[in-house]
Amino acid sequence: MDKISYPVKGSCRCGKLEIALAAPPVLTAACHCRGCQKMSSSAFSLTAMCKSDSFRVVRGTPVKGGVQGPELDHFFCPDCKTWMFTRITGMDDFVNVRPTLFDQKSLATPFIETMTSEKLPWVSIPAQHSFTGFPDVDDFMKLLDDFSQTQDQQGSRRG
Ligand SMILES: [Zn+2]
Ligand SMILES: [Zn+2]
Repeated sequence: MDKISYPVKGSCRCGKLEIALAAPPVLTAACHCRGCQKMSSSAFSLTAMCKSDSFRVVRGTPVKGGVQGPELDHFFCPDCKTWMFTRITGMDDFVNVRPTLFDQKSLATPFIETMTSEKLPWVSIPAQHSFTGFPDVDDFMKLLDDFSQTQDQQGSRRG
């Protein structure tokens, strides 16, 4: 795996909205729910859960679309309408960024997959943990731990 040097930059389809990430994500995931299938117009969505203080919009002003409250808000490029990131109400410390937008492709590798109960039958991805729904709080804390260890291992292999 290539060494990731932060900050990593990213952009929407048209390039008018630019984002940057200053620190590694805390977890990466794929979600197979029907909502994500529709939002992505594809088989599943990809997420890099990032600390809010490590993520910023460098250029442009995102607009809300998709689900617009009260439980969560989806944010898009105002011009090309690319789905950029999600903010969950009450989880202000984190932001769920669509990691395929980043220049660093390895950030998109999903560590876990969620909502496999709604997965399209032909889909198979190399996630290390699968959940028919979403992980509960205990599982979630352990996943953060496990994921950060995989990041450490990558670091030491790099040298
Ligand atoms: Zn755009
Ligand atoms: Zn979903």
